[in-house]
Amino acid sequence: MSHDDDRTRYIEITVQSALTRVDSARMPGLKWSLNPYRGCKHNCVYCYARYTHEFLELDPTKDFAQTVYVKRNLPQALRADLRKSSWQREHVSIGTATDPYQPAEGRYQLTRNALLVLREQLTPAGLVTKNTMALRDADIMASLSRAAGFHLIMSISTIDPVLARQLEPDAPTPQQRLRTVQQLVEAGVRVSVALAPVLPGITDGESQLAELIEAAYDHGAEVAFHQPFRMYSATRASLFAYLKTHHPHLLEPYQRVYSVRQDPPREYRWKLSDRIERVRRRLAPRQPASQPMTPNEGQLQLGL
Ligand code: SF4
Repeated sequence: MSHDDDRTRYIEITVQSALTRVDSARMPGLKWSLNPYRGCKHNCVYCYARYTHEFLELDPTKDFAQTVYVKRNLPQALRADLRKSSWQREHVSIGTATDPYQPAEGRYQLTRNALLVLREQLTPAGLVTKNTMALRDADIMASLSRAAGFHLIMSISTIDPVLARQLEPDAPTPQQRLRTVQQLVEAGVRVSVALAPVLPGITDGESQLAELIEAAYDHGAEVAFHQPFRMYSATRASLFAYLKTHHPHLLEPYQRVYSVRQDPPREYRWKLSDRIERVRRRLAPRQPASQPMTPNEGQLQLGL
């Protein structure tokens, strides 16, 4: 079954299993991932997950935001996964490939129902999003946090609203995301901000990073991590089109640097880490007190 809204076609599919084992050296901390949707209407020009549409023989540039697959039975499949005798209640990472609170979630509520299943089965989880819709499920997140452990990461690449609109055309503004961060913290949810991705020459200025980190602190969140932009082949067309329009002087350097590697050079990554560390030290007095880990976070529960 499928339905369309103004620009996006939603295709409902069923899955055998909700969880995917993560076995990647690039993501050493992740064990299991869960993605209710495939494709993402936020349509960020730098999105690394565009490659997932190539597997479906779709255009990763045009179709990624226009054809979204909806795993209609995901909560039921998740319950079956978590009831297996082999399940060890390991940490589940939600939203590793697409945003679990993209607009489709308003209609389908798959993320919400997956969180309910995780809480029911006392399984710890984390979730990454750019969308304010997360606030709708704050009560479930807070109770999952108490029952088994939960941590939300709000991804923000810049607090400049004009730049954000260019980079993340259909995601909520950074200011809306920061307000959501604050409201989630007030609701008892453990929240951090990820500076992700950091785009060389575009969002990596020291004052830009300082404004972003300061804004995260002022809204009650710690900074979880930063991620220098990594180029996947399926992302090249959308990123280069963006550069051509908005930063033509950066087109050639990006083409040169990313033609031989996925990541920026090591020296750049070191400099970026130093820069962020310097900003964090300077802003340390503004950093909010660490949000308490829940007593059960990461531990197994017997469900008694
Ligand atoms: S919100 Fe995440 S998954 Fe969605 S388009 Fe942006 S980077 Fe990709």
